[in-house]
Amino acid sequence: MIIIFFGPPGAGKGTQALLIAKKLNIPHLSTGDILRKKLLDTDDLSQKLKKIMDSGNLVSDNILNKIVGDRLIRSDCNNGFILDGYPRTIIQNNFLINFLKNNKLSVSLIIDLKVSESTIITRIKARSNKESRGDDKLSIIKTRISKYLEETKPLSDYYSSNHLKNYHLINGNQKIEMIERDIEKIAKNKDFH
Ligand code: AMP
Repeated sequence: MIIIFFGPPGAGKGTQALLIAKKLNIPHLSTGDILRKKLLDTDDLSQKLKKIMDSGNLVSDNILNKIVGDRLIRSDCNNGFILDGYPRTIIQNNFLINFLKNNKLSVSLIIDLKVSESTIITRIKARSNKESRGDDKLSIIKTRISKYLEETKPLSDYYSSNHLKNYHLINGNQKIEMIERDIEKIAKNKDFH
């Protein structure tokens, strides 16, 4: 089972992706988490990544496609995986489509979390108090939202028009438990339990 989560920063993708990954017992692949782990290194690459991520911009497609390509061929992905934060650009999406085609795989479910800008700001403020992420400053959030609108929103539009049966738009302004309930309902209909 392959699930892709879409939604702006602060939509709750990470929280929901983790919940469903645990339920289905498949890996939760958050490219943001993978990159944040890399920042703990002290090499040139990690310095470069930190600058890009702290400014709210996107890391290059080559780096992301290599990270994801290497990760998806590991055996724990054999029964499926959950993508959280990838694909984020057309080039990444093309890479993913090719990977799936070459491995005779297809996307089972696309969950798109729709949230208002005020919810995004409230959530990110709360998270920045808890996690102290370099990119959770209010000034950077605007850049992250505009990157999402320019680069990533067209992809969820693509999935909504090409994968109508598998695509689900969910109200991400709700409480975590309500969003979880909505996703569970969809998953149940798909016989995931
Ligand atoms: P996230 O935790 O998903 O909000 O990602 C945090 C940051 O990591 C983003 O603002 C980007 O700088 C970088 N990042 C994560 N995933 C990607 C991706 N698929 N493509 C490019 N940059 C990414």
